[in-house]
Amino acid sequence: MNIYKGKSVYKGIAIGKLQIYQKKDLPIKRVHVKDAEAEIRRFRQALQTAIGQLQGLYEASRDAIGTAGAAIIETHKMMLQDDDFIESAEHIIRTQQVNAEYALAMTEDNFVNMFAALEDDYMKGRAADVRDISERVLVILSGQEAGLLQTEEPVIVAADDLAPSETVQLDPSKVLSFVTVHGSANSHTAILARTLGIPALVGTAITLDASMNGKLAAVDGETGQLYVEPDAEALSLLRGKYEALQTKKMLLQTLKGKETVTLDGQKIRLYANIGSYRDLALVLENDAEGIGLFRSEFLYLESRTYPSEEEQFKIYRTVAETMAPKRVIIRTLDLGADKHADYFPLPREENPAMGCRAIRLCLTRPDIFRTQLRALFRASSFGNIAILYPMITSLREITRIRQIVSRVKEGLTADKIPFGNPEQGIMIETPAAVLISDQLAREADFFSIGTNDLTQYTLAIDRQNAQVDEFFDPHHPAVLRMIAITAENAHNAGIRCGICGELGADPELTKFFLSVGIDELSMSPGSILQTRKIIRETNVSEEGSRLRKHFLTGCAQPAAEQ
Ligand code: PEP
Ligand code: MG
Repeated sequence: MNIYKGKSVYKGIAIGKLQIYQKKDLPIKRVHVKDAEAEIRRFRQALQTAIGQLQGLYEASRDAIGTAGAAIIETHKMMLQDDDFIESAEHIIRTQQVNAEYALAMTEDNFVNMFAALEDDYMKGRAADVRDISERVLVILSGQEAGLLQTEEPVIVAADDLAPSETVQLDPSKVLSFVTVHGSANSHTAILARTLGIPALVGTAITLDASMNGKLAAVDGETGQLYVEPDAEALSLLRGKYEALQTKKMLLQTLKGKETVTLDGQKIRLYANIGSYRDLALVLENDAEGIGLFRSEFLYLESRTYPSEEEQFKIYRTVAETMAPKRVIIRTLDLGADKHADYFPLPREENPAMGCRAIRLCLTRPDIFRTQLRALFRASSFGNIAILYPMITSLREITRIRQIVSRVKEGLTADKIPFGNPEQGIMIETPAAVLISDQLAREADFFSIGTNDLTQYTLAIDRQNAQVDEFFDPHHPAVLRMIAITAENAHNAGIRCGICGELGADPELTKFFLSVGIDELSMSPGSILQTRKIIRETNVSEEGSRLRKHFLTGCAQPAAEQ
């Protein structure tokens, strides 16, 4: 038995076989070949296999999402038959006497650079398509399947690190737990694990060699330990813990359908955070009172190209109709920083967390923003949708959003497409937004505090950097004061103030949030019933002022029962 220590990002126990996750990135080596013509035949064969795969994929997608949705696959197929592309690769093989992988990678880079340099946005977008088709052929040439899970049964996934775009592409029914060597506890991959309610560890010094595959393992999300080939005693201990957790979960089921109200009558709404419409089952199972944060960018991360207005509309409508009449807050695209999609070229930045992400990206790419807003406004006539804008720092951004929104509405009116009148709120996740929250409150229908970024920007701590995880302290009085200030300014302007960052589910702070009058807490579905339990056992008028003092100063002693 070997035990490895990591940082837990979600409590829970998982027992199952280990599976090492291989990255999709294939190292490309330049290899001299004697017989260039044989290499060209190998290249052509790989092209044919890729075209065949795409044809199969096209037919399956056309049946599932229609011809328009599947059109991109058809385009990829055509690109693989493009004479210029093929001739370029073959020319490199022939003249340089090199392997097909290297020639293809060179051709890919040349074509990507060529498309990326064009003015036209549509043509620029083709750069991502070139990457996509080249990768498919490279995988075939290398004789490896793409870096996906090769398993029929659910497994514990061990990886060096997982980007959000990789995590969303894993089949959740096949994943019992994630264990990564790198990665921060505040990253979006960690957040995804919480949303799915599966135990996960980051920063675990496990050796990722193929001999690990298939070994029995167990993850203890409470202690942050990974057991590889646990002995009988450890296994029985872990099984016992697993049973105890199941029993606790079962007991919480009695809270389903119960009101979320304190002993002295203060009500608060408990919403769920989701990243996909597939999380809806978890939302309903845990009796959420609405969706407080639908991270719409995950839809972009799952996709192989820009999701069209129609594709987005269908998804937003499904979520709104499933939840109606409950509220569904959909956040507009928050790409950038750690969230990248291959087809969506983002500038290389020294400090991406402070760079062109979230609303900044949308305001600099209004074409993409407009497509999403059209889909959102259309879907809002099918349920109780509210739109949430991320990373706001100024009133000027609100003015620019307003201008784009009014053009979107004019466009829909001109196209005779019906649309609703959704509430529009803003995320308070920068110190700037907190400090002008009195002004912002007059311009927004509601606030939602993003404590993950608010902590990052307030404490100047990169949430992606595992080395400073120990300094990432969302209980810091500066962060908690920001929350109190925001709630007060929201209420003075007569709007509601929620929290949708991970802190919303922190049981140590539930009472504090009640004491500063937070109206909504939005969290991973699996945390909702536990939080409802705490709220129903709290008397805010008795405990409120002491808790406010304790948390806002960070020095007063908590009461005995804390
Ligand atoms: C936040 O910053 O708290 C938040 C909810 O947004 P995200 O974690 O997706 O950046
Ligand atoms: Mg954020």
